[in-house]
Amino acid sequence: MEPKIAISLCLLGIDCNYAGGNSLCEKAVEIFKSGRGVPVCPEQLGGLPTPRIPAEIQGDRVINRMGEDVTIQFRKGAEEAVRLARLAGCTGALLKSNSPSCGVGQIYDGTFTGTLIDGDGLFAIELKKLGIEVETEEG
Ligand code: SF4
Repeated sequence: MEPKIAISLCLLGIDCNYAGGNSLCEKAVEIFKSGRGVPVCPEQLGGLPTPRIPAEIQGDRVINRMGEDVTIQFRKGAEEAVRLARLAGCTGALLKSNSPSCGVGQIYDGTFTGTLIDGDGLFAIELKKLGIEVETEEG
């Protein structure tokens, strides 16, 4: 059986991002159509509404643009998404770039100015700990 791939739900054209929009990605759709894709949105799984106030990682916390600490929801969402990925037997993940949950290698710096710094989102961090290969739609 072909290995399963966790996919950020927004890459499949589902309107689950903070703004109520998506980031449709053909590669993600192809994987899903092949039956290998396991779609997850960590932030929705953490109980956050859609649309929601955008949030960024600040140190070991996740803070939204209103200054509210949403670390608990982001951690819960990452845990739930990892649980689903493990249940499905995912060996890889195709994730949305720059997100505080799904970003790989680069995330926003916590100033809400669109500035990127080195780092991973909470979901990507947990997947990496399990040895699951992660990449973004940007390659
Ligand atoms: S948490 Fe991940 S899957 Fe959900 S909208 Fe953000 S980038 Fe997409």
